[in-house]
Amino acid sequence: HARLAPRMSGAGSSPTAEISNKVRALTAQGHAVVNLGEGELDFPTPPAICAAGIAAIEDGDTKYTAVSGTAALKAAIRSKFARENALIYADDEVIAGAGAKQLIFNAFLATLAPGDEVIVPAPYWVSYPDMVRLAEGTPVIVACTPEQGWKLTPDALAAAITARTRWVVLNSPNNPTGAVYSPAEMKALTDVLLAHPDVLVMADDIYEHVRFDCAFATPAAIAPELRARTLTVNGLSKGYSMTGWRIGYAGGPAWLISAMQVLQSQSTSNPSTISQRAAIAALEGGLGFMAGWLDTLRARRAIVLEALGRIDGLSSDVPEGAFYVFADCRAMIGARAPDGRVIASDLDFATYLLDAAHVGVVHGSAFGTPGYIRIAYAVDTDTLRAACGRIEQACHALS
Ligand code: PLP
Repeated sequence: HARLAPRMSGAGSSPTAEISNKVRALTAQGHAVVNLGEGELDFPTPPAICAAGIAAIEDGDTKYTAVSGTAALKAAIRSKFARENALIYADDEVIAGAGAKQLIFNAFLATLAPGDEVIVPAPYWVSYPDMVRLAEGTPVIVACTPEQGWKLTPDALAAAITARTRWVVLNSPNNPTGAVYSPAEMKALTDVLLAHPDVLVMADDIYEHVRFDCAFATPAAIAPELRARTLTVNGLSKGYSMTGWRIGYAGGPAWLISAMQVLQSQSTSNPSTISQRAAIAALEGGLGFMAGWLDTLRARRAIVLEALGRIDGLSSDVPEGAFYVFADCRAMIGARAPDGRVIASDLDFATYLLDAAHVGVVHGSAFGTPGYIRIAYAVDTDTLRAACGRIEQACHALS
């Protein structure tokens, strides 16, 4: 009776689970573990947004809404796209869901058939390949290099497209590298895509606002010709520190939005009514808090990069966005820990940092790029400084 559907065989549980389990085990033993593995800002959700959620409860706004979101939320989403991205969507071209994750999943589920390929540049957000497999498609991983700033090049994109390509995923700013495509770089990619009219474009813009002094570019705005086959996905988790509220949204062609709505209506229905009210306040309230957040993040990024500068064998360029440093640890492979164990992989190195420094990071293999670790600087500055000091000590203890 314990028989799973064949589609389950392609998807593993999160590759970060092993590290997370160890973090929990060490914490339970009373160790002060600093988890720099989590993709979640420590900042509280801005008070005015929380107040809107509380007001929703107090107003009795606690019932089902339209599956794709209330009229007021969809209006706020459409104004956001128009104001910030110069993307004009009609009411049936936008949808809200329980996080960007649900929208991306539903878009794949709605469009992929066995044999369909989805181009996923690596390093990638851990969920894309498994989502594609769960939808019975085939992820086609295209390796990007640090020499290219971890960005997909037009040539690599062109070489990866086949007659079976259904989607290309573009994520800028990128998780885990923090790479941000300039408008010119994005244009070079959209130029390639213009020659392939059957390919859909998944623009994952969730880190749009977490950027340091560089421009933002989203494919449908850079190449209006692609608007009819681009799903522009965004959400409140990262930019507004609202991970737990579970609100994401997307703009795209009506046929696709309508299919995503069907899936949502037969699975989860509308996203939380209370969160929808908070989301309206977020989208309409301006980003006045962001400059302060970015100052804090910039200072933390410097702490991590300065620590890497003091450690032989770890390095990273300066990431332009998100809140991650994707550090090269290839020189650590083959090193010997004080207990005699040899570090044979990026996972071994991450495990060593957890054991010896009590700091959790995620190994690059989880993002499709072995030989690296992702350090999330999403904890308070003092904790981060202490964690970096401990990483430094642990690395100096290697021989
Ligand atoms: N896309 C990327 C690149 C992410 O890093 C994340 C969260 O880690 C998501 C999407 C999902 O965000 P949400 O909380 O809106 O589902």
